[in-house]
Amino acid sequence: MKHLTIGGVFGNPASRSHGFGWQAEAAVEAARRQVAGLINSDSREIVWTSGATESDNLAIKGVVAGRANSHIITSAIEHKAVIDTCVWLESQGCRVTWLKPDPTGRISARQVAEALTADTVLVSLMLVNNELGTINDIPAIGALLREKGVTFHVDAAQAAGKMPIDVSTTPMDLMSLSGHKVYGPKGVGALYVRRSPEVRLEAQIHGGGHERGMRSGTLPTHQLVGMGQAFELAKLQLKEEHERLETLRDRFMTQMDSLPGVAFNGSREHRVPGIINLRFDGVEAESLMLGLRELAVSSGSACASATLDPSYVLKGIGLSDVGAHSSLRFSMGRFSTEEEVDFAAQQLMDVVPRLRAVRRTVA
Ligand SMILES: *Cc1c(COP(=O)(O)O)cnc(C)c1O
Repeated sequence: MKHLTIGGVFGNPASRSHGFGWQAEAAVEAARRQVAGLINSDSREIVWTSGATESDNLAIKGVVAGRANSHIITSAIEHKAVIDTCVWLESQGCRVTWLKPDPTGRISARQVAEALTADTVLVSLMLVNNELGTINDIPAIGALLREKGVTFHVDAAQAAGKMPIDVSTTPMDLMSLSGHKVYGPKGVGALYVRRSPEVRLEAQIHGGGHERGMRSGTLPTHQLVGMGQAFELAKLQLKEEHERLETLRDRFMTQMDSLPGVAFNGSREHRVPGIINLRFDGVEAESLMLGLRELAVSSGSACASATLDPSYVLKGIGLSDVGAHSSLRFSMGRFSTEEEVDFAAQQLMDVVPRLRAVRRTVA
């Protein structure tokens, strides 16, 4: 709050000519160090944005800008912020290879290697898939691309605070982060930009030359301070929270095991614990959601839930329309408790058999 009021640090962080500006600048730089701290980068490698959507746009368009005949490699199950940016670039004459993940939602380094051409300027892949929780093999893909000299963008919006990330040991050049996915404010994010002459990024928002020329616009001090605090907290709680969520997930899954006709979508080996995607055979996810009114579950991602189309992520890992329409994603986070997990499981054990019985009667 104090960064919004006249009695507090309300100055413009870019105004170096007066003390109010300095105070704001110091707050912004402290937040930058906090965000850098979670991914072990230098704070000078953090560029503030309005969210991971903007970070994805800046990374992808910023690398491709001004390069004729560019080829991009991405996957069919990326977040819409990556997919729609690449689709738009396709309409502008770029060539895009849409890799198909394996049935658990992973892309292999071999697939990337086989798709590389002399014109490939960028590979963009997510670290953690937002619908499946699957963790991609970013270290192997990054090592390959570093060797080939191809710029690598990683959307880590869903990974930050959920698993360890270290850009000093994992080869990647650009990484998108979001404030609100780490319990920070909405409308704020960052792009990690590796400091190296090999990483060329053209600004997509031009103006006063803020953020070392990569993203102009007066910085929202209060938003950045909030994001910084959130990232510092996430770092402090990372290990403990990961273990707690694994225990909660196992508790939920053990109860689901007693329910017949439930299949797991995603990878059991490479995953974050907070996302569980399940398929309930013979049940429409939409009806199931209505039967689970007290739970905030989703049949797709928030970004796709305005449509009744089956999830393109689930279709992308090989599910049929019917399979995708029978699937629900459950998310657990910092404020989820054992009681809530048990309640959710109990509700499912009541509602799923009931819906199946209704279907049998109707059929
Ligand atoms: C949420 C999300 C985004 C978009 O982030 P915003 O900060 O809401 O713009 C991008 N990519 C992934 C993987 C996400 O989960």
